[in-house]
Amino acid sequence: MVFNFGRDLLRQINLIPRHNAIVRAPRRSPGLRRDPLLEEVARMLVRQVGCRRLAQVLTVSWNPRMRTTAGLACYRTKQVILNPKLIEISSGEVQRTLRHELAHLVAQSRAGRRRIAAHGEEWLKACADLGIPDEKRCHDLPFKTRKIARRHFYQCPECATILARVRRVKSRVACIKCCRKHNGGKYQERFRFREIAMPDERIAA
Ligand SMILES: [Zn+2]
Ligand SMILES: [Zn+2]
Repeated sequence: MVFNFGRDLLRQINLIPRHNAIVRAPRRSPGLRRDPLLEEVARMLVRQVGCRRLAQVLTVSWNPRMRTTAGLACYRTKQVILNPKLIEISSGEVQRTLRHELAHLVAQSRAGRRRIAAHGEEWLKACADLGIPDEKRCHDLPFKTRKIARRHFYQCPECATILARVRRVKSRVACIKCCRKHNGGKYQERFRFREIAMPDERIAA
């Protein structure tokens, strides 16, 4: 399976890759797929914050087996592992999670042998240096996977109930609550769901 999700990110920063080689992950990590292009982005970011040695050895991989964890960082092996579901959300989410995980490596690299808290002040400082000063400590994906695919949203004009659907609703669908309450459970045009723009994340999550 070929993963080259880093390509668009590289284009964004005007680094056109010369080739698109797929590097096999070490045998002891089955399922992992390294992403050489995203690694280029990561190395550049880490060099920019002054960790040249770390930039030379770090790797970035995708793990399709991850469920709700957005990403992981392992300082011992200098690995960042990302959840491919991030791509379904947005390239911005890939970028943000990459920086979150790199901040773990950068913070530990700067601290040397001293033990630091996973999301302590050293990590926060590294996040700020990597361009995500307001980063949260949570590693979980912002949406449940099942709900990412719901692209069409409808709202009852009466009670404001929101209906989320993967596909566009072609038939006439009215709000059952309002039809029951005001029309004896029968269809009423007045309570027909109207398509709306994506509601805020609080509702979609
Ligand atoms: Zn973290
Ligand atoms: Zn209603």
